[in-house]
Amino acid sequence: MADVDLAIIGGGINGAGIARDAAGRGLSVLLIEQNDLASGTSSKSTKLIHGGLRYLEVYAFRLVHEALIEREVLIRNAPHLTRPLRFVLPHHSGLRPAWMLRLGLFLYDHLGGRHILPGTEAVDLTHHVVGEPLKRTFRQGFIYSDGWVDDSRLVVLNAVDAAERGATIRTRTKLTRADREGSHWQLVLNARGNREVVTARALVNAAGPWAPDVTEHLLRQQPTAHVRLIKGSHIVVPRLYEHDHAYIFQNADGRIVFAIPYERDLTLIGTTDIDFKGDPAAPAASAEEITYLCAAASAYFRHPVLPDQVVYAFAGVRQLYDDGASRAKDLTREYVLDLQARAGQAPLLTVYGGKITTYRRLAETALRRLARYLKVGAPWTADAPLPGGEFPYDGVEALTARARGLWPFLTEANARRLVRAYGTRVDRILGDARRPEQLGERFGDELTATEVRYLMRHEFAETSDDVLWRRSKLGLRVGAEAEAALTRFMEASASRTAAE
Ligand code: FAD
Repeated sequence: MADVDLAIIGGGINGAGIARDAAGRGLSVLLIEQNDLASGTSSKSTKLIHGGLRYLEVYAFRLVHEALIEREVLIRNAPHLTRPLRFVLPHHSGLRPAWMLRLGLFLYDHLGGRHILPGTEAVDLTHHVVGEPLKRTFRQGFIYSDGWVDDSRLVVLNAVDAAERGATIRTRTKLTRADREGSHWQLVLNARGNREVVTARALVNAAGPWAPDVTEHLLRQQPTAHVRLIKGSHIVVPRLYEHDHAYIFQNADGRIVFAIPYERDLTLIGTTDIDFKGDPAAPAASAEEITYLCAAASAYFRHPVLPDQVVYAFAGVRQLYDDGASRAKDLTREYVLDLQARAGQAPLLTVYGGKITTYRRLAETALRRLARYLKVGAPWTADAPLPGGEFPYDGVEALTARARGLWPFLTEANARRLVRAYGTRVDRILGDARRPEQLGERFGDELTATEVRYLMRHEFAETSDDVLWRRSKLGLRVGAEAEAALTRFMEASASRTAAE
């Protein structure tokens, strides 16, 4: 008898999504993450829930169709973490012709699943407000719909929901070896320096860019697919324009770059696509990539974007299934699930590729494949809100107004941030507080001891980085002194809890 039905390696979006789905179908689940949840690629994406307009050019209709449908599923199930986003696509006279853009956008609008999001419109950039920040040479453009998601919180809330449905979530726990012992897997874990052994009836390798290494060195299996590791970098600069649309810019090299409103008063610009070698734990945006992104944006914006404006830069490494495309930008973004099992043997499912947007469908497919080996219930996640997401997709304003009514000491910006992060669970954090002092010590302008305690108790946060960069993006605002105070507070809280 194995300890659990399903062990999953990797607490990124794919591992957390599979854990949630599996736990909700009645399986006993163990999720193993070597660091913090979302500490790998899943906190370093462009944060778009999109069909991928560009993938139409490589005829990836299946992927685009699935992702387009999934946009609205996600928006409905996580109305706090997501928002519809309008994208401005300027026509560039030297690049793709206007008829091609129009055709692509027509397909994008009609390939499937668009009920909430408005369709495409053509715009005269010389008169429309979205043309104002652009150079005068851009006269014609299109505005189409996609969505935005807080990527790392999406991972965390999948893990929270999985745990609430019975899954065991082990962060800071690394798989160091796994052996197939007939009908189960024996896993050796390094849990904060302690060796542990657990057994599982089935194993999922959802280790993202580490997956090939896990297959070869920890599971000691022959790799069954070729993957390429591709790095993508982003820069964050002070807000470049006032309106709330994003831009999608075509470049002469065939790539595209997004400029997206970010965290109230910033603009996020990304991304590059570069073959990557080395440790996926420590990718960094290089000076060349920063220059490239600044140049790409400056080709469109009236005021040039300069490297010395960059307030923050980050890079992520994706593992893409190698379908033989020579250029990184042309590699398929489709996910591939590889299932290895001979009769009587415990199965191993490896996740290759994928996108934040399609994680829920990936999890459903994974469970369908595993259903031959485990007693799995029916699919259930298509219309199941994530924790705190039990409100209408356009309900953020109403919830924010309610929060300000209940806790009048909240500023508009802080109330909105809390609603966007926690949705209806704001109530669990602020409770019956009547005065701001009741929320305890402050770390920077907004973060309070009460919120940090909630994150430690209910969202697996353990360090200031977990709180400032993955449970929130307050790292962009909190200074070194407040961060040091936060670290002290979290260490003291953790040792108090350990002593209890
Ligand atoms: P990860 O998030 O990397 O998770 C794998 C986890 O496994 C890590 O946390 C790691 O610590 C853990 N792990 C590894 N080895 C072990 C071990 N031995 N023991 C325990 N744990 C281990 N998708 C979109 O839909 N929209 C976008 O806008 C978008 N933008 C992107 C931009 C960039 C630059 C990149 C790189 C990707 C982007 N993606 C986007 C794709 C998306 O981010 C990834 O497909 C997704 O995050 C991959 O998730 P994952 O769970 O497979 O991997």
